[in-house]
Amino acid sequence: MGGREIEVVRGHRIDYQLYKYLLQYFSEGELESLFNAVRRPPGRYYVRTNTLRINPGDLINRLRERNIDVYPDEHLNEALWFPVKGPNRIPSARKIVIADKRAAESVYMGANLYVPGVVKFEDGVKRGDEVNVLAPNGEVVALGIAEVDGDEVRRVSNGVAVRTLISTYSLPKVREMPEYELGLFYDQSLPAQWVAHVLDPRPGEVVVDMNAAPGGKLSHVIQLTTGKAVIYAFDRSPGKVREMDAILGRLGMAGLYRTEVRDTRYLDIDKPELVGLVDKVLIDPPCTDMGVRPRLFDVKTMDLVKSMSEYQRQFIRVAWKLLKPGGVLVYSTCTIPPLENEDNMAYAESLGFRVVDISIPNASGGLVDRYRDSVARFYPHIQDTPGFFIAKLTKPM
Ligand code: SAH
Repeated sequence: MGGREIEVVRGHRIDYQLYKYLLQYFSEGELESLFNAVRRPPGRYYVRTNTLRINPGDLINRLRERNIDVYPDEHLNEALWFPVKGPNRIPSARKIVIADKRAAESVYMGANLYVPGVVKFEDGVKRGDEVNVLAPNGEVVALGIAEVDGDEVRRVSNGVAVRTLISTYSLPKVREMPEYELGLFYDQSLPAQWVAHVLDPRPGEVVVDMNAAPGGKLSHVIQLTTGKAVIYAFDRSPGKVREMDAILGRLGMAGLYRTEVRDTRYLDIDKPELVGLVDKVLIDPPCTDMGVRPRLFDVKTMDLVKSMSEYQRQFIRVAWKLLKPGGVLVYSTCTIPPLENEDNMAYAESLGFRVVDISIPNASGGLVDRYRDSVARFYPHIQDTPGFFIAKLTKPM
């Protein structure tokens, strides 16, 4: 163990084994463009219209009346996007504040720096000073104004530490729009918005979401069936399930689905009443997240990819048991390695599933010959979306 690491682009390290593995599918130059794109946010910030409450055209008009720059997607009716600004040049300040990774990534996108995200606040910094906010690796992410003194930051536990003036990128502040509070939209990337369409749920069907929280794809399934399907939403994390119920409440969807906190790797044992009776299953499992943007720095290893792949297969085995003959499984991830994607589809086929062709405008095909024309992929450096994988399978009659 303790193998060599390669820094593919600034901040993005992978171990040598994973590097060699990825080189089977990408050239060095492609890997570099891919990881460089992961460092940036997509040029479009997507939201999904809550069609149970408003139609997309009316939502656009409402936003444009306040001079908000918003556009309809070219293909997906409910998808709208806001342009993301940047990269902006960050002027240098004389003093610096260091933020932790998570906070630095939000400040990089225009958020303020809150006290809990501060790693180091120089003692010399006084309230009102101009400061540069740095990520733990020394990368400058913003210019801002200190809202507290350096010696004060250790005593207070909350509030704004630095108000951001100029950040590397700036996202529209969708969470501050009244339409957000009113549940008229849900923030969701474009590839994620294709998943429910590929699942194609119909009123009256029994649908199981095996990894439901925080409810992005679940709420889309509810929209597409206008709440008239029998929808089970499972997730292992009680905290995330509470968050999901709050989000779906805001969207006006309370009562249109059933939630249970479950480790769905054992759903066939815990919910025997579902075995063989489900029309549609969605698996959106934890993954190595290598397509998630923007990410300033990250470390990934081949061991992690392998263990994720094993973990993901457990959901596929259970989906096989839950589905009725003729039932449909949709499998999606936000990561790149074929071991978590195409290879898991080959595993599903070894259980009896059949991968069926899907076609999504502008998507790329599979990275493995057998699935070149059947599954869909999105790449940060090609489609300028998060890295994403979607496949559709059926359990033969
Ligand atoms: N489908 C969601 C995102 C899912 S993220 C959306 O569209 O919004 C993956 C989820 O899988 C996480 O919420 C995680 O808590 C859940 N998860 C991980 N292991 C699990 C398990 N063994 N059983 C059920 N859920 C699990």
